[in-house]
Amino acid sequence: MTQVFKFGGASIQDAAAIRRLGELLARFRARPLVVVVSAMGKTTNALEALLEAAREGEGDDYRDRLETLRREHLAAVESLFGTRTGPVTERVEALITELDRRHRRHAGRERSFHYDQTVCFGELLSTTIVSAWLEEAGMATQWLDARELVVTDDCHQAANVDWQATAERVRGLDRDDGRIRVTQGFIGGTAEGASTTLGREGSDFSAAILAHCLDAEEVTIWKDVPGLFNADPRRFDNALQLEQISYGEAIELAWHGAKVIHPKTLGPLQQKAIPLTVRSFQDLEAPPSTIGRDTRFDTQTPSLILREAQTLLEIRPRDFAFMDEARQHDILGRLVEAGLHAGLIDSGAMRLSLCLDGHPERLEPLVASLCADYAVARRDDLTLLTVRHADDALLAALGAGRDCLAERRNADTAQRVFPGSQCRGTWHIPA
Ligand code: ASP
Ligand code: MG
Repeated sequence: MTQVFKFGGASIQDAAAIRRLGELLARFRARPLVVVVSAMGKTTNALEALLEAAREGEGDDYRDRLETLRREHLAAVESLFGTRTGPVTERVEALITELDRRHRRHAGRERSFHYDQTVCFGELLSTTIVSAWLEEAGMATQWLDARELVVTDDCHQAANVDWQATAERVRGLDRDDGRIRVTQGFIGGTAEGASTTLGREGSDFSAAILAHCLDAEEVTIWKDVPGLFNADPRRFDNALQLEQISYGEAIELAWHGAKVIHPKTLGPLQQKAIPLTVRSFQDLEAPPSTIGRDTRFDTQTPSLILREAQTLLEIRPRDFAFMDEARQHDILGRLVEAGLHAGLIDSGAMRLSLCLDGHPERLEPLVASLCADYAVARRDDLTLLTVRHADDALLAALGAGRDCLAERRNADTAQRVFPGSQCRGTWHIPA
């Protein structure tokens, strides 16, 4: 059965990392193997900046940025292939020329369409180099264009997958012909052939789409951390690795803002009971984390998630009326229209509280619209803490010395909103 491996930008950020990727793959002899790769390092950000420069009139800034992209990718090629760079250099040069040509052709189109036709080149470049390097290192590969495999609608920058059409396109890729199949994460294509993207950090989702459609045995996401943790190890000095959690638990963690796996990744795997393993590409001996059907370990360790730069809105009807369903419907409708997500929603008889990401371009129009019809109290620079499987003692310890401005709790999830100033620095999970 097929294995699907996904490598993010950090695991292929330069020639040394690509070499390490080759060594890693040489150890895995199992076939069929599909390898899904992101753009190198921060290339996607660089392409977004290139697009902005292009839309502002394609001056020196645009040309400098294009040249930097070209130089960085060619530097990796030269470092990997030494004097034998010929065919790979040509392919990289051809992609850069094509990127320049395509973006010009579509410059007059709406931004999100233009974005997808431009930004997809990060993954096309990275997979071209990775695939050539694996060949060079003695592994047979087949480079596949994900825009021809992952069929989507034309909702650009957040394309929706056509599962049936994708299953048809990938048919046969689970046949073992000895080759490693190398393809791009993050990108897809419409039935008409326009390039699309699945949303930032969407390569995990790409791996899940292919695994789902191929009825794969397992998906492995190779990361620069050994696995999943019960809190962000950069913020919590005693975060613990979670070795085994269920799909449902992982979906909850991702939904509440744990930045481990793209939230859309898990549904398609859960449906086919395909396990997802998160492993370190730096330390192959480190124990991995696995997400699967087993729910037994979910409640053993509390998990903590911090979301910063939050804004709390307390919305009240002006006329002593109740915050009934009709008013909630009205307010949440405006939230949806503004394209905002509330990490916490809590209602009372005469109040609806929303804790939102402080996304100024979206937040300010929403607040203005609400203020026209409701009494709105607002607080900025807050931190939303979500705790899964907490007991009272843990919550009390976490709240000590912090002013709780809003809260919500159900059987397995507790949330508290604190002033951001009381939440900075390193946290310690109380025993
Ligand atoms: N390269 C894309 C991004 O940076 C997709 C990904 O890395 O998953 O958003
Ligand atoms: Mg990336």
